[in-house]
Amino acid sequence: MEFGPEALIDHTALRRNLGIARRASAGASVWAVVKADAYGHGMTDVAAALGEADGLAVARVEEAVRLREAGIGLPLLVLEGAFTGEELQLAGRQNLQLVVHHEFQIKLLERTQVSSPLGIWIKIDTGMHRLGFSPERGREVLGRLVTAVALVGRPGWLTHLACADEPGHPHTQVQWQRFQALLRPGETASLANSAAILSGMAGPREWIRPGIMLYGASPFPGETGAQRGLEPVMTLQARLIAVNRIAAGERVGYGGLYRCPRDMPVGVIGIGYGDGYPRQVTSGTPVLVNGQRVPLVGRVSMDMISVDLSPCPEARVGDPAVLWGRGLPVEEIAERAGTISYQLLCGVTARVPRRYLASQDENQGAVVRHRRELG
Ligand SMILES: *Cc1c(COP(=O)(O)O)cnc(C)c1O
Repeated sequence: MEFGPEALIDHTALRRNLGIARRASAGASVWAVVKADAYGHGMTDVAAALGEADGLAVARVEEAVRLREAGIGLPLLVLEGAFTGEELQLAGRQNLQLVVHHEFQIKLLERTQVSSPLGIWIKIDTGMHRLGFSPERGREVLGRLVTAVALVGRPGWLTHLACADEPGHPHTQVQWQRFQALLRPGETASLANSAAILSGMAGPREWIRPGIMLYGASPFPGETGAQRGLEPVMTLQARLIAVNRIAAGERVGYGGLYRCPRDMPVGVIGIGYGDGYPRQVTSGTPVLVNGQRVPLVGRVSMDMISVDLSPCPEARVGDPAVLWGRGLPVEEIAERAGTISYQLLCGVTARVPRRYLASQDENQGAVVRHRRELG
């Protein structure tokens, strides 16, 4: 048992959430998105647990190579594509599928002799204006790629939505129509992120790209994953490292921002912004101590936070505290921090060990492995 903070990762919840993505888009194939260390959950272990996905998507070639080195055999898609000849060769050798989103990448392919055929997805900018070719250029790009590169199959088409997390946003319809206008019967396409999947926008034959929903959080502002039947995968946990009685009128923490309204028990929990707990949250932010909500008091420090233990005066040094996860939605803490769940999950730092919980069926929830992921 660790005394310091841990991120408990529930693989059963992960697989159930994958099942929800599949059922929301019957017939579609799934690129499970595991970029950014699987949104902070530990990329290689999450990848190993997601064997039922049709493939895994990452942002960068380096991430895909790490998955191959960890023995992951599933199809892998690199969402930003390759930027050097060396990355192209790696992609060929490691059987990676590459997004091509820029003239620079076409030229790179045209001048590089890649030793193995490549799987290619052409990214179309349908209105996000971040990455991709205009829909008008799509056919020309396809023609050049087919000429320049030894391909595995026909290139697929891929686009990304800017406003899918605001249901009913008119821009989503505009982007969808521009994408559909480009596609010809029988071509392979990929459009839907978590928000589009949960909005029922995924086509039956497309490759969907769920990210945040796999980890149990909702992409929509103002709601939690539980409202969509999703289960939190990460529970961020730490322990009480001190319990003190502080007198009425005394102040707690840096800057003395919190003043005790009465004599009260104040607990110190061994987690702080050095672990990825957001410094922006203020007094009143909920923490679960022994399963009970207590309010944070004063400023978040690098290694510690303080809480008002009045609601559970029996709490002792060593008792567990949940910062987010089971019983306390990460979305609620993200809102308190003025950010989104994605950033909190990705931001858990390397000094927090990820502890993997076995599937309930395999091992009654017992801990099977204990590993430190160093990114
Ligand atoms: C990160 C990413 C996704 C996943 O988005 P979620 O909102 O987490 O589902 C899908 N597609 C692309 C291109 C991405 O970069």
